[in-house]
Amino acid sequence: MTLQEIVRQLDRFERGLTIYAANPWQPSTNALVARPGDDGRAPEEAVAAGCAYFLEVFMALAVLRDLHGLRGREPSEMEKCARLIEYAEWLRSDATDYPFIKWNFPVTMMIYCNGCGRHFDIVVTSKDSADHRCPACGKVHAFGLEAFIRKAMEQGKRMLRKTHGCR
Ligand SMILES: [Zn+2]
Repeated sequence: MTLQEIVRQLDRFERGLTIYAANPWQPSTNALVARPGDDGRAPEEAVAAGCAYFLEVFMALAVLRDLHGLRGREPSEMEKCARLIEYAEWLRSDATDYPFIKWNFPVTMMIYCNGCGRHFDIVVTSKDSADHRCPACGKVHAFGLEAFIRKAMEQGKRMLRKTHGCR
């Protein structure tokens, strides 16, 4: 698969999966979508294909959702690839501001319930934290979009450091 082919069908992938891509990053780059190992490392199939961590599927969706709002029309596949590469490169830089995501509310997100171990969808209407009740077990979760995204980005940066460390 190529990065462009993954972008084309991005919303069909499970949100918990991760995109792995070969260097250099281009729309035609060899890439695949897989589940990371328990320790956050790239799975064997990615390593065997010469691919390394690129971006989580749910983060790619968030970055592209924003792009749609900026353009006021459906962006082309090339524009989507360019945006994801731009974001993935930013993630590997030392910058700590988050210039890429401006939300158009409401946003549907999927969160994990540590009460019953299931994921469930929530509708987020603002950047502020709000309570969401798990439909399966009733546990209430406070969810703040900004904090959630920041954590995901920091996790991405941490994972990169770990990847670099074992090379
Ligand atoms: Zn639950």
